Amino acid sequence: MIAVVVAAQLATFAVVTVATQRAVSSRLEQELHVGQRVWEQFQQSRSEQLLASASVLSDDFGFRAAVASGDVPTLRSALGNQGTRVGADLAWLLDRDGRWQAGAEGAAAPSAEVLAGLTRQAARDGLALQTVVVNDALYLVVMLPVMAPERVGWLAIGRRYDDAVAREYQRLTGLEAAFVTSAGSRTRVHASTLPAAQRASFASAWTPQGDHTRPIAVGSDHYLSDSHPLTEGDDARLVLLDSYDRALAPYRALRSRILLLSGLAALLAVAVAVALGRGISRPVSRLATAAQRIQAGDYSQAPVAGGSREIAELAGAFGRMQADIAAREARILHQAHHDGLTGLPNRSHAYDLLQAAIARGGDVAVLVMDVNRFKEINDTLGHEFGDQVLREVAQRLRSASDDAHLVARLGGDEFMLMLPGLRCEAAQAQAHALWNALKQPLDLPSTRVGVEGSFGLACHPEHGADADTLLRRADIALYDAKAAHGGVAVYQPGRDESHLRQLQLMTDLRQAISGGQLELKFQPKLDAASAHVQHVEALLRWRHPTLGAVAPDEFIPLAERSGFIHELTRFVLDQALACHAVWRAGGLDLGLAVNLSAMDLLDADLPDYIEQRLAAHGVPAERLILEVTESALMQDIEYALRMLHRLKACGVRLAIDDFGTGYSSLAQLKRMPVDELKIDKSFVMQLEEGSDDAVIVRSTIELGHNMGLSVIAEGVENDRALALLRHYRCDMVQGYLFSAPLGSAALLDWCHQRERTATTADLPLETDA
Ligand code: C2E
Ligand code: CA
Ligand code: CA
Repeated sequence: MIAVVVAAQLATFAVVTVATQRAVSSRLEQELHVGQRVWEQFQQSRSEQLLASASVLSDDFGFRAAVASGDVPTLRSALGNQGTRVGADLAWLLDRDGRWQAGAEGAAAPSAEVLAGLTRQAARDGLALQTVVVNDALYLVVMLPVMAPERVGWLAIGRRYDDAVAREYQRLTGLEAAFVTSAGSRTRVHASTLPAAQRASFASAWTPQGDHTRPIAVGSDHYLSDSHPLTEGDDARLVLLDSYDRALAPYRALRSRILLLSGLAALLAVAVAVALGRGISRPVSRLATAAQRIQAGDYSQAPVAGGSREIAELAGAFGRMQADIAAREARILHQAHHDGLTGLPNRSHAYDLLQAAIARGGDVAVLVMDVNRFKEINDTLGHEFGDQVLREVAQRLRSASDDAHLVARLGGDEFMLMLPGLRCEAAQAQAHALWNALKQPLDLPSTRVGVEGSFGLACHPEHGADADTLLRRADIALYDAKAAHGGVAVYQPGRDESHLRQLQLMTDLRQAISGGQLELKFQPKLDAASAHVQHVEALLRWRHPTLGAVAPDEFIPLAERSGFIHELTRFVLDQALACHAVWRAGGLDLGLAVNLSAMDLLDADLPDYIEQRLAAHGVPAERLILEVTESALMQDIEYALRMLHRLKACGVRLAIDDFGTGYSSLAQLKRMPVDELKIDKSFVMQLEEGSDDAVIVRSTIELGHNMGLSVIAEGVENDRALALLRHYRCDMVQGYLFSAPLGSAALLDWCHQRERTATTADLPLETDA
């Protein structure tokens, strides 16, 4: 903007300067023209004056007499006197033939060349008028004949072109003037209005010129010059000089005013540019910076307003846009980090927060919680209800825990709490408080339900150094809590490894049937009094391809947890019945006991399957004994009763296994359609006369008999136990004293051999193949 204004000013200035220059030049041109005309008149009047003076002198009688006398001194004084009288600067007398005779007192004689020029003109025209140079001075000379009455000689008088003449002329015209002669390129200045100092530089600057004007610099002054011959046909010239500087003077003022105005305009432009810069450019660049900041994701600063109204509006819009983007981003971030249903942080966010808390160091307790039987709630009451339950649970957990604690939803019915700064014991107490808080019935719009939770606790740093380990171990503890039917469990060191083994076993078990890794062993149950084999119990064995033999106590609970138990039970039933058919063909018709797990009691299709397999293998129903542990029956007594009745209806016998460990009451026992009580081996193995175990075993046998049940003792390992059991009139015995579980073929052999030998129980112990 400044550049544009300055350029415009310069252009204006240039135009004005050129126009002034032209105007001045043409004015000078005109002045020189006028000056020339004035000069012509001036010269003419000077010539006429000189001619008149010369006529007067040549007609003077005395003078003529002096000429006639030919006396030189007289002539000299006459020329001097008369010349002075008529104001001549030069007076000469020439003889009749034009030869030099005398001059005024002290006057120098003209050169022959000058005389010749004058004489030639006079002879031609009768008189002569010329400009001549004598002794470096320039003169206008007129020459007339002196008649007495014939021509007796020539009179020449002249007037000098001196500085006074020049000044006189200057007075009339205002022009500088110089009288010059030139020889070659050298110019001589004879007289001038110029000060003495400038004449030399004028002389070197000026050269003869034609009839046109020309600019010329004399020292530091500038002139337009013109020149004319002083008289017709002469070398000597009058040079007229008209000063540019003088003519320009009035314009100079104009020019400085224009310069001043231009300067002011430029200043104004600067001021306007600065104002525009402040008002638009700088606010716009501030907005650009703000835009870059926003692009980089920094919303901390509002764009600074300022500048014009439009810019302020733009900055306002920018600010609102930034706030919107920030809000939107915060919302998206919140959605990415939080669970839509409960509004709690989600798994990945909780994981990050946990990692951050661990990185800060110190104690961090991690609680993982899930709602017991949530799947049932969901399935029976609907998902919408399930969602309400989850929201309520989240609310409960939130309000029952400290503000510094984090409550997050890991997914499904699983929640996580992070309790920074709590030692394990304190965290456990807190978990119990939460567990209690959850047990209070939930206030749901439609109904009041009570839910229970299981809590698993793992603590940093004792249970793990990173988030993954802590979460996994809290999960394992949760598993343990669930296995114990709810409550709070703390991670037990070493459980992680066994958990991993369990996970592996759980996965591998599914391939065990098809992989032929499962095998059935059979352990005989003998009549206590006669020592005849009455039944055999089928016991499952798993030979894992890499881990070797895995005990049923380890893999059966895993199969229950993974739901694989149904398939497993069906496999055992089918295999055992098949063996039974083989034994019968071999002449051995025994009762066959098969173990059912708690989960099998929930398998509504099991009775049908059993009937079908019994028929398929041709085994009479009363030959099959199903053993169910007391604790399995106690889990859901009503459901178990229904199932027992259905099984009973198939015609099979039922036994309560591990009796004495499951806390059943007499009242419950009375309702169960069972045929057999199997005293748990923990009471039998170290059975001694007079011990607590002896009291329990004896009263259990009496109780069973009173209820019309057959009683069997498992885990009989020595003769003392056997003797006591016989004494208590126990019906059947089973244990290593007689035989470990045997393979199908080995069992057949064992039984045949036993038939052949004694009827007492003094046979050697067989080892578990
Ligand atoms: P259980 O039903 O109480 O089976 C008796 C367990 O005691 C068997 O262990 C057997 O080998 C062991 N035993 C027998 N005589 C003696 C003895 O004199 N002393 C001692 N100390 N123990 C003796 P096993 O075979 O390891 O089975 C353990 C448990 O696994 C069984 O306990 C049963 O609950 C479960 N189980 C085994 N096979 C099956 C099956 O096919 N289905 C189901 N559901 N559970 C099974
Ligand atoms: Ca059993
Ligand atoms: Ca048992």
